[in-house]
Amino acid sequence: MYDFAYHKPSSVADAVKLLAADPDAKAVSGGHTLIPALKHRLNKPTSLVDLSGIAEMKGIRREGNAIVIGALTKHEAVATSAEVKAAIPVLAFVAKHIGDTQVRNRGTLGGSVANNDPAADYPAAVLGLGATVHTSKRKVAADEFFLGMFTTALEADEILTAISFPIPEKAGYAKMRNPASRYVMAGAFVSKGPMGVRVAINGAGPCVFRQAAMEAALSANWSADAVAAIMQDADGLNSDIHGSAEYRAHLVTVMAKRAVLAAG
Ligand SMILES: Cc1cc2nc3c(=O)[nH]c(=O)nc-3n(C[C@H](O)[C@H](O)[C@H](O)COP(=O)(O)OP(=O)(O)OC[C@H]3O[C@@H](n4cnc5c(N)ncnc54)[C@H](O)[C@@H]3O)c2cc1C
Repeated sequence: MYDFAYHKPSSVADAVKLLAADPDAKAVSGGHTLIPALKHRLNKPTSLVDLSGIAEMKGIRREGNAIVIGALTKHEAVATSAEVKAAIPVLAFVAKHIGDTQVRNRGTLGGSVANNDPAADYPAAVLGLGATVHTSKRKVAADEFFLGMFTTALEADEILTAISFPIPEKAGYAKMRNPASRYVMAGAFVSKGPMGVRVAINGAGPCVFRQAAMEAALSANWSADAVAAIMQDADGLNSDIHGSAEYRAHLVTVMAKRAVLAAG
């Protein structure tokens, strides 16, 4: 580690001021991704703005036909929330299967979505449900939020404050995990509801993406058979020691079938 300034504001407005004042400042929430990056010197901010004391970014509530979750909400809180389980049970399932107990008790919804790791779970739920990302400046539709590997629509001094998830009629998630890291090799989040029929794929490509052919097939016939014959193009998918692009393309179909079966 190396020297950096540390700030712990208690409001979003103060946190934004601190980020805007220093172009090399970084926000930190659970720290489960950022702190290892600092230790490996992959990231060298001159100041850290710790968001964990900001009460307005915490909590889970129902607002009309949506569940709104504060960005600082830990994965474990989502996994065990009665409100989430009743309205969007698959969201609790997603949270319950992130990493291990320690990760779920430190990692936050906002940190995960802002980080946009291609193998993270929450981005699939955000895109697959057609959620709305609330920030310190605006509201951004999921379709406009995830821009590329570890890249989102967030600006340097913009804080993700909450996410509003529309309650679907049905939704399911399936993923093939890397047995060592537990990160997703390929996953599929499917839903049918106020945002239409949506299929979001994570892990397979550099960034979570929607699978248009599967969405069309499921719109016509909501069944696992409808997606069984649709092959994902391997072009542009991730290829590494854990699995080739072709293997991940194959997994996309398998995971989509399982997700539809899970959704019922
Ligand atoms: C061993 C291990 C296993 C894991 N397994 C999984 C897994 O299976 N699935 C999975 O999805 N994830 C997994 N993770 C990641 C985990 O979910 C992290 O907690 C998450 O990616 C980041 O959340 P955080 O709150 O720790 O973010 P931090 O580390 O605090 O921040 C991450 C990044 O987001 C930025 N940021 C944080 N909060 C905000 C905000 N509110 N607004 C704007 N920017 C913000 C930071 O500046 C930083 O760039 C794993 C992590 C570890 C260490």
